[in-house]
Amino acid sequence: MHYKRIYLSLSHQSGFEQEYVQKALNSNWITSGGPNVDDFEKELQNYFGEGCFTTALNSGTSAIHLALILLGVKSGDEVICQSMTFAASANPILYQGAIPIFVDSEAETWNICPQSMELAIKDRIKKGKKPKAIIAVHLYGMPYKVDEIHAIADKYEIPIIEDSAEALGSKYKGNKCGSFGSFGILSFNGNKIITTSSGGALVSNSSDLKEKAIFYATQSKDKAPHYQHSKIGYNYRMSNICAGIGLGQIKILEENVEKRRKNHFFYKDVFSEIKSVKLLEALDQNFFSNYWLNTIIIETDKNRDKESLRLSLESANIESRPLWKPMHLQPIFDKYPYYGNKIAEGLFNNGLCLPSGSNLKEEDRDRIEKVIKTFFNC
Ligand SMILES: *Cc1c(COP(=O)(O)O)cnc(C)c1O
Repeated sequence: MHYKRIYLSLSHQSGFEQEYVQKALNSNWITSGGPNVDDFEKELQNYFGEGCFTTALNSGTSAIHLALILLGVKSGDEVICQSMTFAASANPILYQGAIPIFVDSEAETWNICPQSMELAIKDRIKKGKKPKAIIAVHLYGMPYKVDEIHAIADKYEIPIIEDSAEALGSKYKGNKCGSFGSFGILSFNGNKIITTSSGGALVSNSSDLKEKAIFYATQSKDKAPHYQHSKIGYNYRMSNICAGIGLGQIKILEENVEKRRKNHFFYKDVFSEIKSVKLLEALDQNFFSNYWLNTIIIETDKNRDKESLRLSLESANIESRPLWKPMHLQPIFDKYPYYGNKIAEGLFNNGLCLPSGSNLKEEDRDRIEKVIKTFFNC
């Protein structure tokens, strides 16, 4: 019995990718920027609607870095960051020589906790420095508590960078994730909801900010016939080949969201009778998740824990993975301040991500269900 491996999160192709990539090859436009990049940005702008400006970049990480630069974050500044996230949310803070201030999650969306965040802001101000920015994440596609978080940020006049890398297609109160912050960022990495193989985008609210982002992303070239630079530049622009893949992929964004949500309702059904498992679900009607990944918390007992379930799935050639390990517990970040009540730690200790790709087939879901039901004796 050699079952094909079921992966955690893969996208699938629309079939149109090749045509756009071929167009780039035929025209010999095989560099960063170019017609596919312009068209891909237009598609993204159409998705977000009027007032949103998108800059296509080579990764979501670059997008966060540029957002920090455009907000004027400099060496020694403090930046609040959700602790429960992927390291790419926090690393760019260190690129700028700034200081990350980590904040815990709340138990309902698993995202940045409003109370802990306000405590952190007050304490940092008391200690002499108001945070320069807040990085809030829609983890696993689940929107954070947008109203609460933005009300606090507004009260203290601190801009938000909305890490929407996992949440393209998600909504809060009917509005699109990625469009709430001073800046939003997207990722088109291979495991995300749509992919450009590797890529990302910065979402802003003015053409001026978009122009500035392109300036920094293309080595900060001043206007001159020769190469002239008065600012540090970066090589962060998306390539015309990658944007071709993106043009093929964006056609199936809605379809991918539907497929991932179908996986979610499959898991909801599987776990409905398993009392020792809690599946992360939308809190109420205000939260519309693309369910990029389905995630569960397992009540640990002497027979079962997240690792034994992971190993059972693995022995059936099914990939699963522990939740993100919080940043304040990471060797590279553990010397920085942390505010919270160890919610994120509890999630990490007992949580698992389950296969959720838009490429999952009915027979894949059947295989997953069998392993889970055997594991929980039902
Ligand atoms: C994927 C991801 C990023 C970074 O995106 P890349 O395109 O891989 O650089 C940032 N934040 C979160 C939460 C992510 O999942």
